[in-house]
Amino acid sequence: MPSRADCQALDRSDPLAALREQFDLPPGLIYLDGNSLGPLPRATAARLQAVVQQEWGRGLIRSWNTAGWIDQPRRVGDAIGRLVGAAPGEVMVADSTSVNLHKVLSVALRLVRGRDPQALRRVVLSERGNFPTDLYIAETLAAEQGFALELVDGDAIGGAAAERLAGTRGADVAVLMLTQVDYRSGALHDMAAVTRAAHAAGALVVWDLAHSAGALPVDLRGADADFAIGCGYKYLNGGPGAPAFLWVHPRHLAAMAQQAIHQPLSGWIGHAAPFEFTPGYRPADGIAQFLCGTPAVLSLAALACGVDTLAAAEPLGGLPALRAKSVALTSLFIELVESRCGGHGLRLVTPREAPRRGSQVSFAHPTGGYAIVQALIERGVIGDFRAPDVLRFGFTPLTLRFVDVWDAVEQLVQVLETGEWRDPRFHRRATVT
Ligand SMILES: *Cc1c(COP(=O)(O)O)cnc(C)c1O
Repeated sequence: MPSRADCQALDRSDPLAALREQFDLPPGLIYLDGNSLGPLPRATAARLQAVVQQEWGRGLIRSWNTAGWIDQPRRVGDAIGRLVGAAPGEVMVADSTSVNLHKVLSVALRLVRGRDPQALRRVVLSERGNFPTDLYIAETLAAEQGFALELVDGDAIGGAAAERLAGTRGADVAVLMLTQVDYRSGALHDMAAVTRAAHAAGALVVWDLAHSAGALPVDLRGADADFAIGCGYKYLNGGPGAPAFLWVHPRHLAAMAQQAIHQPLSGWIGHAAPFEFTPGYRPADGIAQFLCGTPAVLSLAALACGVDTLAAAEPLGGLPALRAKSVALTSLFIELVESRCGGHGLRLVTPREAPRRGSQVSFAHPTGGYAIVQALIERGVIGDFRAPDVLRFGFTPLTLRFVDVWDAVEQLVQVLETGEWRDPRFHRRATVT
């Protein structure tokens, strides 16, 4: 088992160590929740102040042109595109992940229906453990368009979903909707393999990249994916409520144009000529038609700073290098927890094999674990609890040191050995967990 000194040695030889300096981190705190809300980049506060005081305060409405506000959804989209294997001009930033899912899933279903006039494909397939907002959006949309949401039990690398699609059983599936990294267990799908299985079955795939964009290399074009959406405030460090992004393969944009299929939220900013103020809806070319209303300029400015923190890793090896560090951090955490916390009932729910997991590690606990997480937070180690029984720890390779992993486990050992988590104050549930 590695010692604390071994961890410090790993930090001294870590070529990515300096990236941490990009963040304004509270001293003495170990933040294992960058997968839920990324930390604050140092550049963000000054940038927001400039946008507010200069661009808004002095430039006023002129700044839509002079400060390039109107181009922000595409510019920040291009920066995110580099992280997820999309070409320039293919990604837009807009709205929330939930809203973007509504838009792309609606289009995916219309495209399938267009080539399946007898409506033999009636199923939207997803995983029971998928993030609830994805399931809720799909449930309503499927019913509205005459489809039915069917859920299989999730597994890493395709598993149940790929099985359901195999042979004649895939003949009724219209769209497979998956989150690449499971938010609770951290299990990672092989995007290329699952997409291949779905296409072989005649289905389209919508990928949610909420826990993969900025955490590991994603290659949408290489995997021949169909649609993707993702979150701005997790590994992209865009700040609370940051706008989300979306991507649609150009072949589907071409099919949309050919078949006059529109995204359902046909607002003016996605119109071909918003400032002609004409009554009829005509979608803009390309991915821009997926915009809806006026861009959230302040939030986009913060998201741009967040994405810059990942761009800064490019000269140091970019996402492949960050992924290697993330794997080393999560492997170390698993090893230390299992060797030091034995007998306390923690059970690893994240896949043990590194290629099958994202950048987080989750343990289940027979009591649920909520109180253990609260006791850890009081000791300055912030992770989170996901109902019903998961303690979840995110490892952002941009900011975390190996010694942080060691120190976090040390606190966990003390919380478990003292039994302090049994104190009633740790059992009161806050609104947000
Ligand atoms: C975080 C997350 C979301 C968040 O959706 P919002 O619209 O931003 O609230 C959606 N899907 C998944 C899989 C997530 O992990």
